[in-house]
Amino acid sequence: MKRAALFLCFGLLLASSFATRAQQTPAAAASSWSADISQIRHTAALIPGRKPTRINVLKFAESHRTKNFSVKGEPATPSVQARTVFQVVYPEGYVMVDAGMDEQMHKQIGRGAEEPYFSEQAQQVDKALRGARAIIFTHEHGDHVTGVIRTPYLSELAPKTILTRAQVRTLETTPQFPDLRITEEQALRYHIIDYDRYMAFAPGWTLIKAAGHTPGSQMMFIALESGREYLLIGDAAWHMDSVRKMTGKDAPWIVEDSSAVSDQLKWLNTLSNSEKNLVIVASHDDDEHRELIARKLLGGKLE
Ligand SMILES: [Zn+2]
Ligand SMILES: [Zn+2]
Repeated sequence: MKRAALFLCFGLLLASSFATRAQQTPAAAASSWSADISQIRHTAALIPGRKPTRINVLKFAESHRTKNFSVKGEPATPSVQARTVFQVVYPEGYVMVDAGMDEQMHKQIGRGAEEPYFSEQAQQVDKALRGARAIIFTHEHGDHVTGVIRTPYLSELAPKTILTRAQVRTLETTPQFPDLRITEEQALRYHIIDYDRYMAFAPGWTLIKAAGHTPGSQMMFIALESGREYLLIGDAAWHMDSVRKMTGKDAPWIVEDSSAVSDQLKWLNTLSNSEKNLVIVASHDDDEHRELIARKLLGGKLE
C-alpha cells in the first residue's frame, strides 16, 4: 500500500512542476493541438524505478458498427469495435488503463442493438480492477469509466482511481449518459489530477493531454523495460485506418473537437511512419489488437 501511495505521489509532484510555456499562449491553444515525442520520452524517464515489462489487452464486449462510422468516407462494410481494458504490468504490480462497463451500459451504448457482452471476461475485468495498484483513464466515456462509477466495489476501487480534472468536469456537468453523472462530493472519493501538457505518471509512463474526442481525453506513452514503446491513444481514432488516412470519425452521436482530433491524427500518422519502435494502440480496433497479440506485442489476457 505504501509503495502504491509513493508511486502516485511521485507522479503528482512531477506534474505540478511541469507546467510548460503552453499555458502562456491561450489564444493558440483553443483549437490547435500538438505534442513533441522527444519531450514525452524525456518525461517518461523522470520517475526512477523499474519500467513495465508488458501490456495486456482484454476484450469484454463488441459493438458491430460499419466502417463508415469509424472512418469518414469508408464503405459501410462490417466492422467490430472491441470494448477493451489494458493492463500495464510492472515487476511489482500493475496499473489498469480504463475500467470497462457493466452490461447495462453496454446496452445503452448499443442504442437498442443486441451485441455481444462476454460476462466471463467482464468478471476478469472486475477482478483485475480490484487487484490493481492504480486505475487510470484514456477518457470519460461510459465504455471506459463505468467500471469505477457504477460498481459494487466502489469503496475499494475509488481510492486508487485517478481521474483528471477535465474528466471529472465532464462527469459532473455533461456526462455521456445521465447515470454516469457524479456530484462534486462523489468526485472527491477519487484521486483528481491536473497537468498542462505532459505528466510523468510512473516509471516509463507519460500522460499526454489530448482533449478532442472528449474534453478529458489523454494519450499514454509507455516505455517497457525491453525498450519497446507504446502509445495508447484511447478513442482519438476508433480504427487505425483513421491514423493511416488521417481521416476521423463520422458518427453523429459523438461530438468531438474535430480540429484537435485532426491535429492528433496527423501527429500519430507522422509517428507511425517515423517511429518504428513505437506501437500505437487504439482502444477499439479489434483488427489491430488481434495482430498485436499474434505478434506478441500485446498479451491477450489479464493476469
Ligand atoms: Zn469514447
Ligand atoms: Zn470508447
